[in-house]
Amino acid sequence: MTADSSPLRLGDDITLPLGTSWDLGEGAVFSLTNPANGSSFGSLKTASVTQVNSAIEAANSASQKSDWAQLPPHERATCLYRASELMTERRDKLAMLQTLENGKTLKESQGQVTSAAGITRYFAAVCETLTEEISPSRGNYLSATMHEPYGVVTAITPWNSPLTMAAQKIAPALAAGNAVILKPSELTSVVSIELARCFIDAGLPDGLLSVVPGGADVGEAVVSHDDVGMISFTGGTETGRRIASAVAPRFLPTILELGGKSPNIVFADADLELAAKGVTSAIFGSGGQSCVAGSRLLVEAAIYDEFMERVKAETAKIKAGDPLAEDSNIGPMASFAQRERVEKYVDIAKEEGARITAGGSRPEGAAYDKGAYFLPTIVEGLQPTSRLVQEEIFGAVLVAMPFEGADHVTALANGTDFGLAAGIWSQDVTKAWNMGRQMQVGTVWINTYKQLSIAAPFGGYKDSGLGREKGLQGLRAYQQAKSLYLGGFQG
Ligand code: NAD
Repeated sequence: MTADSSPLRLGDDITLPLGTSWDLGEGAVFSLTNPANGSSFGSLKTASVTQVNSAIEAANSASQKSDWAQLPPHERATCLYRASELMTERRDKLAMLQTLENGKTLKESQGQVTSAAGITRYFAAVCETLTEEISPSRGNYLSATMHEPYGVVTAITPWNSPLTMAAQKIAPALAAGNAVILKPSELTSVVSIELARCFIDAGLPDGLLSVVPGGADVGEAVVSHDDVGMISFTGGTETGRRIASAVAPRFLPTILELGGKSPNIVFADADLELAAKGVTSAIFGSGGQSCVAGSRLLVEAAIYDEFMERVKAETAKIKAGDPLAEDSNIGPMASFAQRERVEKYVDIAKEEGARITAGGSRPEGAAYDKGAYFLPTIVEGLQPTSRLVQEEIFGAVLVAMPFEGADHVTALANGTDFGLAAGIWSQDVTKAWNMGRQMQVGTVWINTYKQLSIAAPFGGYKDSGLGREKGLQGLRAYQQAKSLYLGGFQG
């Protein structure tokens, strides 16, 4: 391999780790735009379909010939521990690239590098400690269940948190003994290539990890290749549906981490100060561009007006600004296209008769003129069936509604096609716990929000997805079980 281990310098031609070498892409050219000021900071030659095919063939060959899957788990783990260390050493570069590409504040990007390193370290530890199983014997034989990799795993990631999303797929898939093809969003390709560089520089066998940047055409090419044994996708629900249909005839296992429209429920007996801070950061953190954003606020009618005043006061404290500035709480939207999408939804809200009680527009002032900024927005007065309540916006728009009693709020909370997460705020822990069990979602937070542990399974109910990532089972998800029976014992 002709791996260039030096971290990338902007302005260089960006080479892609493809199969056994680092090459220039031969596909469409994508212009790299900083959403904080609209400036171009280079261009990326994406992978061509021919390059995608040869990277997958190299991955298949590496998974069969490199002995990676046969290595004792602690030796695979050693490589992942080293990758984790490299992420930490390259934290500043990785964080800066993510911020340049998607406008997250530098503070948040730095935290996400630390998370990506932690995720990788966690799966190294799982890899070397997970045990195989001997099941109870029902006769004179021994039965053991072994877990084997699928071969080539295709990992497809979105643009909102490319570092953690990619680490969350690459680390367990490699730990499980697979080769990986990473197809990042075209918006966040450069940071994804640099993350992959940490795994490659840690000593992975040639060809075991490739990155094929590009748009939907490259995504379709990686999904449709016959040598791919499994798909792990994070992105929008409609794209997930398309991928599930495309792979159904081949019975490919899939993990689909999809969209959300998560309810945040505030009962009258909640600690209202804590709840107001929690509700505000649940939606407006990362500019609302988070799959688990608490985008639907359901407030018990008796405290609705008072609580909304508190939420508006917290919202007014959020400072949108240059993502590199220490005092910015949120940066711009990740792209100008994403801001257009949010603006379209604000127009729809007005058509649906909503009251826009905070934000609803771009911030004013020279500091904001060139960037994709949009103010944190609160929308009230809508019916549960309205588009703003039912559809994922993926931006800083909170839709608030009152409720009367537990049955009403359960119906409202579960009344969308999504089922990713929910928040519940009450000082009656028994009530909150019981309500949590009623939520048709994969994650429930009580008196907190967006706490995420790599050790706890994560995924969606209903249209929010299929399968689970993270936790011990997060590694098993990239393996298939094989039971072996050994008989012929004497006596
Ligand atoms: P998207 O679905 O448009 O794209 C996701 C990825 O799929 C990108 O890499 C894209 O290029 C690729 N892609 C697009 N069409 C494809 C096709 N036909 N075949 C294969 N790949 C294809 O999503 P996005 O706009 O990048 O990200 C935002 C979405 O991601 C939101 O809906 C958000 O909720 C979701 N998301 C979910 C989670 C989760 O864990 N559940 C986490 C983060 C983001």
